[in-house]
Amino acid sequence: MSDTNTPVGGEDHPSGYWTFHSPINIDEVATALLLADIAYDALSQAATLRPGASEGREETPEETDFESQSTVVYAQDWTEDNRPNMPVPGQWVFEPERDWNEAWRRGIEPVRIGHVLIVPPWLDAQISSQSGDIRFIIDPGQAFGTGHHETTTHCIQALVDTDLNGKRVADIGTGTGILAMVAAALGATEVMAVDIDSTAVRIARDIIADHQPRLFPNTRMMCAQGSADSIPTPPTFDVVVANMISPVLMEIANDLARLLSPNGQLIMSGISNQRAQEVENAFAQEGIKLSITPGVEWALAIGHTMERNDER
Ligand code: SAH
Repeated sequence: MSDTNTPVGGEDHPSGYWTFHSPINIDEVATALLLADIAYDALSQAATLRPGASEGREETPEETDFESQSTVVYAQDWTEDNRPNMPVPGQWVFEPERDWNEAWRRGIEPVRIGHVLIVPPWLDAQISSQSGDIRFIIDPGQAFGTGHHETTTHCIQALVDTDLNGKRVADIGTGTGILAMVAAALGATEVMAVDIDSTAVRIARDIIADHQPRLFPNTRMMCAQGSADSIPTPPTFDVVVANMISPVLMEIANDLARLLSPNGQLIMSGISNQRAQEVENAFAQEGIKLSITPGVEWALAIGHTMERNDER
């Protein structure tokens, strides 16, 4: 089947790799290559869409025709002159190398939540602040917590809406340290940030040290490896913020409740809209009443210690 080996593209692209696209399903291609003794690095299966299914919108799984799966074969050392005769029908396609790092960078936008502005370092010179802005420079490649995720945005908004002057704040699962830093910049006098991930702690410490002189020189900031259970009480905290997935929040609910002052406020996200009720029930068990605001995908939960006459 040497007539299938006519190249498509490639001449204008000095750097890239050759792939072979076959309309045959992956198992048959794998078997044929094995029988023909053709070595390759990877096979991937591409499901073919029913005609018209993909036009102008994303396909849904039901629209994918799994009967007519096609296969892409790839080998790093295939070149213009060194491509095997394929034992299955298909077409050679040259995939030009892309600078993924550059493409990714171009997709990153600054984030603004009220006066909180988070800018990636490479846009620092281009993006100007407005008066009153609290400006953070965070490299999004480092750890979770750049403001690009809905859950982080919810927590930042909740912190912005809270009077943090002179308050004691705990940030559980600090990632880049963003929520701890926002709380400090908004007037908290003491902030305790923890994360179970030692890499996150190292990164957060660096980022905090970079921002402290300019944004919160007088705040007592601590950043340590650990979780809610590693923070001793008393003293308790006026505000506890925790942005983590629901199972983790429910698992540490008891310690989050312990950290919270009697009139304190618990701020949580990482709860998918669907699981909000479950989380609400788990925290009620710990004496915390949650009010949930659903988001696009993730909810914000604000919790307070239940009054004695609250329903339990
Ligand atoms: N606070 C940041 C990061 C949230 S991502 C923000 O809002 O954007 C969640 C973070 O929690 C991760 O850095 C992860 O390492 C940490 N984490 C996960 N489980 C944890 C636990 N049980 N205790 C403490 N931190 C945890």
